[in-house]
Amino acid sequence: MSSSAIELSLKGSYIMATAHLKLLSRFLFGGETRFDGSRKKSLEAAFSSVIKRQEENSSRLPDLDGMKARLKSDREFSVGNEGLLEVAVENLRKNRFKVVIASSLEEAFEAAVSAIGAEKFAVKSKSNITKEMRLVERLSESGIETVETDIGDRVLQLSGERPSHPTGPVSHLGRKAISEIISASSGLDVPADPEAIVGFLKTEIRDAIQKARVGITGANAISASEGSVVIIHNEGNVAEVSRLEKHIIIADSNKIYEDLASALNMVKLQTYYATGSVTTAYINIISGPSRTADIEKKLFYGVHGPKEAVVIIVNRDQQAEWRKESQYCIGCGGCLLECPAYLEKGPRFGSAYKQGGIGVIDSAIKEGMEAAYDNGLYSCLKCGLCKENCPVSIDTPSMIGKIKEEAVKDERLKKRLRPLRLVANSVTFAANARGALGAFSAKGKKTAYFPGCVTTVNTPEIRDAAIKVIEYALGERPSVLEGCCGGAWDSFGFAEEREKGFNEFSKRAEESGAEEIIVSCPHCYEILMERGDRLESAGVLRVLRFSEAVGNAEFIADNGLKAAYHDSCVFGRRYGVYDEPRKALKNAGVEIVEMERTREKAPCCGFPLILREPLSGGPIAQKVADSAISAGAEKLITSACPGCYYAMKRTSGIEVEDISVYLSKKIIKRKEIL
Ligand code: SF4
Ligand code: SF4
Repeated sequence: MSSSAIELSLKGSYIMATAHLKLLSRFLFGGETRFDGSRKKSLEAAFSSVIKRQEENSSRLPDLDGMKARLKSDREFSVGNEGLLEVAVENLRKNRFKVVIASSLEEAFEAAVSAIGAEKFAVKSKSNITKEMRLVERLSESGIETVETDIGDRVLQLSGERPSHPTGPVSHLGRKAISEIISASSGLDVPADPEAIVGFLKTEIRDAIQKARVGITGANAISASEGSVVIIHNEGNVAEVSRLEKHIIIADSNKIYEDLASALNMVKLQTYYATGSVTTAYINIISGPSRTADIEKKLFYGVHGPKEAVVIIVNRDQQAEWRKESQYCIGCGGCLLECPAYLEKGPRFGSAYKQGGIGVIDSAIKEGMEAAYDNGLYSCLKCGLCKENCPVSIDTPSMIGKIKEEAVKDERLKKRLRPLRLVANSVTFAANARGALGAFSAKGKKTAYFPGCVTTVNTPEIRDAAIKVIEYALGERPSVLEGCCGGAWDSFGFAEEREKGFNEFSKRAEESGAEEIIVSCPHCYEILMERGDRLESAGVLRVLRFSEAVGNAEFIADNGLKAAYHDSCVFGRRYGVYDEPRKALKNAGVEIVEMERTREKAPCCGFPLILREPLSGGPIAQKVADSAISAGAEKLITSACPGCYYAMKRTSGIEVEDISVYLSKKIIKRKEIL
């Protein structure tokens, strides 16, 4: 069989596998969950306005990095700190709060019911833990009607939808959708006008507050040394709810901070990352029930505020160390603003009470692997934009990777993960077979080039071009190691197979006698870099990126092409490599025009979703293409990543070419290479 016939049949097996994956995911396992078009637009508009406000206000927080560093160290100190919890409880009690420690949400619910006592009506303000408890629904089942007093939460209470942001829960709903919801629930015709909507809800909520004797709130922070509860809000409702006869505060133990200074640093960051503003309209610091000693120094409780204030602290097991990192989350929603999966899938990506990748992690920890799978474990692109936009730099993508490794061991998910196993199997088999057939010489050179399995099977034009360019830049043809490094298994969490795949690769590398390996695929680069010591034992001393290896070569520079460069998430955000490929392209006469979001903020191409959920993945790639067009680019150049190239090739409106292919056309013909 000729080499091209082999390639065709190997590619065929991969195409069959991916088609199988699409069919299985669509028809057998419920397929792709889509986000309603108008809700998606409303969400995008709401999030864009937050980003814009953040940009406008950034100069008002000149020490943002210092504040973030302080927050990170405060979270590391306080989360899971049982000693600090004891100090907080002691000082809250000194301030006359009644304090209940609940070790589960169930216990917290029972404590709340007991604190409500004989009352049959309550009002509540925004609190994420009460959403997690389904407090309002469960109180109503127990005969205690509870009305949400935040405008957004009240709309959700009427519609029954999932919140789309921790502090802006109806960011996905426009005025028309909201007017329909409240008109349907009230039987009145409430116009689709923001003023009319707010006016209607304000009256309804005010009536409820006047009727209630019990107010329930969450807490943004509890300061241990002062024994105070900090609650931030814009609407003013918390001030009303917390001044009723009885105030019940429900908070997770991870809301405890050492002191008020730490708590206030956090709320400032929470406000900025959630809304783009530097402060909320109100910051309430509550240190016990309302009291006076004005009459003969005799202490009376319940003057203009509550006679009784109860703090229910939910103190759950934080579990393994890496899981603890997810508890550093301050619930600001910053990670959602540019998350490509969230912008496409909306609140279905995440749990019912916590949105996006961090919500998937939270559900894996609290509800198990099946819940994580249902909430979008495999929809996360591991692009790292969430980490970039997080005030605590929570490493969501790497936690998602660890959860996948646990998910594949879960017997209950075995059948549902079969299509993913099949794809990994097909692509590695095809690439390894290609290597075994030996179309390229794999031995005898100091430098080897490793294209990776997806490039070999799916985008061989990158491989062929890269070989040419490397040969040109180095003055000698490299040996070529085809096959898989284990990365295909890694993407889905099959850790055992990944390590087996890497061992086989490392054996081939040793047999090749290469001292350095040039890699074009960013995911292979990551796998190899993370196992540098094992490669060294195989005699491989260096791993180089394609653009690193060829970046200093001289290329034909005669056309002054205006092109946008699409940074790969791994080379960019993971390894901070931005200038190197741009330099190589400039050497070839390219004028780089930067897209609106570029470098650290560069959007993801959506490749992992394109295979499994093409209706969500396709628009993610198209956004990148549209951004390149808006920047005035004539061409969009990808980073030698086979995933980015595959995704971007399927967009419209702009020509897409990979950096390796582009540079291969700019080789200055020299005698010794021809
Ligand atoms: S890694 Fe990317 S897709 Fe995944 S949660 Fe973070 S931003 Fe979203
Ligand atoms: S993960 Fe980070 S950005 Fe996302 S809500 Fe939590 S603290 Fe905010």
